[in-house]
Amino acid sequence: MPHIDNDMKLNFKDVLSRPNCSTLKSRSEVNLTRSFSFRNAKQMYTGILIIAANMDTVGTFEMAKFSLFTAVHKHYSLHQWQEFAGQNPDYLEYLAASSGTGSSDFEQLEQILEAIPQVKYICLDVANGYSEHFVEFVKNVRKRFPQHTIMAGNVVTREMVEELILSGANIIKVGIGPGSVCTTWKKTGVGYPHLSAMMECADAAHGLKGHIISDGGCSCPGDVAKAFGGGADLVMLGGMLAGHSESGGELIEREGKKYKLFYGMSSEMAMKKYAGGEAEYRTSEGKTVEVPFKGDVEHTIRDILGGIRSTCTSVGAAKLKKLSQRTTFIRVTQQVNPIFSDAR
Ligand code: 5GP
Repeated sequence: MPHIDNDMKLNFKDVLSRPNCSTLKSRSEVNLTRSFSFRNAKQMYTGILIIAANMDTVGTFEMAKFSLFTAVHKHYSLHQWQEFAGQNPDYLEYLAASSGTGSSDFEQLEQILEAIPQVKYICLDVANGYSEHFVEFVKNVRKRFPQHTIMAGNVVTREMVEELILSGANIIKVGIGPGSVCTTWKKTGVGYPHLSAMMECADAAHGLKGHIISDGGCSCPGDVAKAFGGGADLVMLGGMLAGHSESGGELIEREGKKYKLFYGMSSEMAMKKYAGGEAEYRTSEGKTVEVPFKGDVEHTIRDILGGIRSTCTSVGAAKLKKLSQRTTFIRVTQQVNPIFSDAR
């Protein structure tokens, strides 16, 4: 008989962080940089762990120069990688090269990592990380690249986080359905409320000295802070980084206003672009939107970091590392006053 889990599961919108007494005098005292040494891999990372999503509209080389860390999408050719690496050697340590499980994807990944040894991060991304095939794939990539840091997903439950870590992944990408241009919940009825998913998965990963990426569902700086407060080690952003000068997607001008196209990687638009259209047996699980043009991403990133600094100050965390220890979420029925919801 089908089973119902009656435990309440939450999204970002369902909670706020409770303020705590704090000795911090100013936001400028907050240190957002963290250092990690990743399980299985030999390198150490020090930086701010907000990562641009490996979507072709967000994980671009242009974004890599201005974002904090970028999962570069898998549709760049080896030649484009080499050209970027030659001209921008300083950015390479903040990049991950992405791959799906297809054999041509993997061949290309091998070529990139052989040609550009400074790239130390691999992002293995499938819409549903629950297949045996994916677990085998992660094991093979670990064997082939013993020293690299491997991000793998997406999953939403403890047991799969543990299985992927024990198969050789360092950082598990968590999130099925919360994305801004994702329609998986609607099309399939499958997924997991994202705040609960990432909190449960973080707990599982940290128990094995692994890490997690909270992937998707952030619509404002407060959500990014809630993700870190809930235990995420990295937070991946798509929609919040879309629509900028550095984003991919066609620029559209209409009635004196500018927009940029932003679409899911399983949308009809992406499938047309990269797979010659939608295969008969599948439906798109992503949508296409026009994002009002937002200018340089630098401003948006500053806004996000400013928000997280304020969160840290309000809950009394002098370092981002301490944020989850200082976080108590309270259930709410409203977190935004809607009267002027269109104004910034
Ligand atoms: P956002 O930050 O826009 O809320 O979420 C970004 C995440 O949405 C990506 O990192 C990826 O995991 C997910 N995503 C991107 N495109 C699609 C899609 O077409 N379908 C689904 N189901 N998820 C997508």
